[in-house]
Amino acid sequence: MQSLLNEIYNDVKPMLGQGKVAGYIPALASVDPAQFGIAICDNAGEVTSVGEADTPFSIQSISKLFNLVMAMNHYGEGLWDRVGCEPSGLPFNSLVQLEYESGIPRNPFINAGALVVSDMNESRFASPHLAMRDFVRRLSANDSIFSNSDVADSEYEHRSRNAAMAYLMKAYHNFDNEVEDVLHNYFYNCAVEMSCKDLARSMNFLANRGHCVFSASDVLNKDETRQVNALLATSGLYDEAGRFAFKVGLPGKSGVGGGIVAVVPGRFSLCVWSPALNEMGNSVLGVAALESLTRRINWSVY
Ligand code: GLU
Repeated sequence: MQSLLNEIYNDVKPMLGQGKVAGYIPALASVDPAQFGIAICDNAGEVTSVGEADTPFSIQSISKLFNLVMAMNHYGEGLWDRVGCEPSGLPFNSLVQLEYESGIPRNPFINAGALVVSDMNESRFASPHLAMRDFVRRLSANDSIFSNSDVADSEYEHRSRNAAMAYLMKAYHNFDNEVEDVLHNYFYNCAVEMSCKDLARSMNFLANRGHCVFSASDVLNKDETRQVNALLATSGLYDEAGRFAFKVGLPGKSGVGGGIVAVVPGRFSLCVWSPALNEMGNSVLGVAALESLTRRINWSVY
């Protein structure tokens, strides 16, 4: 495994410098783009890594996955009355489909869907973002994980588009709580900082039929695990989900902080991180590293 990761690192290193870090908030725009890390966790919990795999970064949209699992734990199948399970084919922060589809977002991994899921968690937890922080601490066996309040506050200042989506869904009666409260928690979730090793460990349950070896608990049942992996495969990489399935063939979720998590069902969970993004908002070196991995050992689920 170590030599495989070293080879992948050598494959992608020449690409450092390509792409652009997310610039929509100042706190992310100042991240050094010349960083790369990858970590793989096997189903027994052993982690192998290369590069800057211990450096915490902003997990951003990867939080949508943890947010969803927390809601599934409580609402079960009822969750799918309020959010769909179809790929959107439009940018992650698009508003247009909401109007056509009566305020029901296409899936939980676009912003509108994640906001509805956050609304559901808002109804349930006194402090939803602390609940999610504690959840990822348990999943990754790391009690020092925290949310970066500078990033969260900066997101909140630039909230207009997400606020517009939430208010539109409220107009369609698909939003129960105060929009500003939900946005606050949603942004604190996006601003959680974790390393590649933390994220590889925290995804272990999705490679392990729902069982997390680090917390020694069943996070989801087998059917729910299959459902989440299917959603990750169809909707986890914004507009690049089709190409990612074509080239890599693993369930995965990316975030604009430059992280991509992926699952090899029944075997491994992994995370790759490099902050510079392509025009679809996915990490340039992250996608390249996962393509290199697939070229070297065909782990594609297809
Ligand atoms: N905090 C971002 C937003 O809501 C999430 C961006 C992402 O990683 O897709 O706009």
